[in-house]
Amino acid sequence: MKVVIVGAGMSGLVAARALTEAGAEVTVIDKGRSVGGRMATRRIGAGVLDHGAQFFTVRTPAFRSRVDDWLERGVVRVWNHGFEVDDGYPRYVGTAGMNSIAKDLATELRVETSTMAFTVRAGSGTERWEVVIDDGTVRPADAVILTCPMPQTIALLVDAGIDFGGPMELTEYDRTIGLLVTLDRDVELPGAGGVQEADDVFSFIGDNAHKGVSSVPSVTFHARPTWSEEHWDDDTLIESLRSAAAPWIGEASIIDAQVKKWRMATPREVWPDPCWTTEDDTIVLAGDVFAGPKVEGAHNSGLAAAHALLG
Ligand SMILES: Cc1cc2nc3c(=O)[nH]c(=O)nc-3n(C[C@H](O)[C@H](O)[C@H](O)COP(=O)(O)OP(=O)(O)OC[C@H]3O[C@@H](n4cnc5c(N)ncnc54)[C@H](O)[C@@H]3O)c2cc1C
Repeated sequence: MKVVIVGAGMSGLVAARALTEAGAEVTVIDKGRSVGGRMATRRIGAGVLDHGAQFFTVRTPAFRSRVDDWLERGVVRVWNHGFEVDDGYPRYVGTAGMNSIAKDLATELRVETSTMAFTVRAGSGTERWEVVIDDGTVRPADAVILTCPMPQTIALLVDAGIDFGGPMELTEYDRTIGLLVTLDRDVELPGAGGVQEADDVFSFIGDNAHKGVSSVPSVTFHARPTWSEEHWDDDTLIESLRSAAAPWIGEASIIDAQVKKWRMATPREVWPDPCWTTEDDTIVLAGDVFAGPKVEGAHNSGLAAAHALLG
């Protein structure tokens, strides 16, 4: 079976691994320059900063066994057991940043990065479908898994003549604006390396040096969805973010500051099934909009998508 997977985030890569291990011929394509999607890590000078997902937790057996494998191989480790109070539940991080988990998953898979899917249409050869790339080339497939945020997935399927039979097309996403800073000295955040629901502006502040990802002081600030929406196009965005961040960094001076905008950060509603398939099981929709807007949900949705094709 020839499968094309659109999206090399957590869900797409997990699906690709499961299908490849089952003997399918899998190609993953992603418009980004590297794999990982919202599990993203950026270098700023000597600083290393996670700027999408910050950490993850484990609740389900399927994800538990994956995380146990990652722990054994040193791909992930425990950051803490809670930020304000120790609640006993581990918060895990990628040992070399959250993106390194995606890179590990992508090992030995056929992944084409900087490759943007333009549309999915009926195949002209022996395969049922073809994924048309924005450069006009096609990737034929017996089955296609789409893992982009829902509005992008729906847009890719306009030529495929698919009836979704539900309101999935209306799925909306919250935005997140991130401020990434490297500093001249360490900061002392009140929590164990991170602050959740920090203040009116920030929903999360994470110390990448405390996390063990960065060898120099580097902090990630994530603005709340409402704040992000209201300030998305501000000309003075970076100044506003810097002044909101000032009380948290105390005496430290910012060496470098960058802004990262996530237009589709978090789905506002989550669909109850772990993935969605056409009646003939040749088009599968997956991603964190199905099994929960977190790393674990994306993982479990990717696995469900692979199982949907394998029967
Ligand atoms: C700011 C932020 C903070 C977060 N914090 C946490 C956290 O602390 N803990 C947690 O568990 N989760 C967190 N999350 C959520 C978590 O990152 C996501 O749930 C998960 O990574 C989603 O994976 P995915 O595979 O479903 O989608 P994505 O990672 O979005 O992957 C989809 C991929 O599809 C690609 N794509 C889209 N359109 C096309 C196209 N036309 N052609 C080719 N490729 C395309 C994209 O480039 C992307 O790589 C956070 C997310 C954000 C944005």
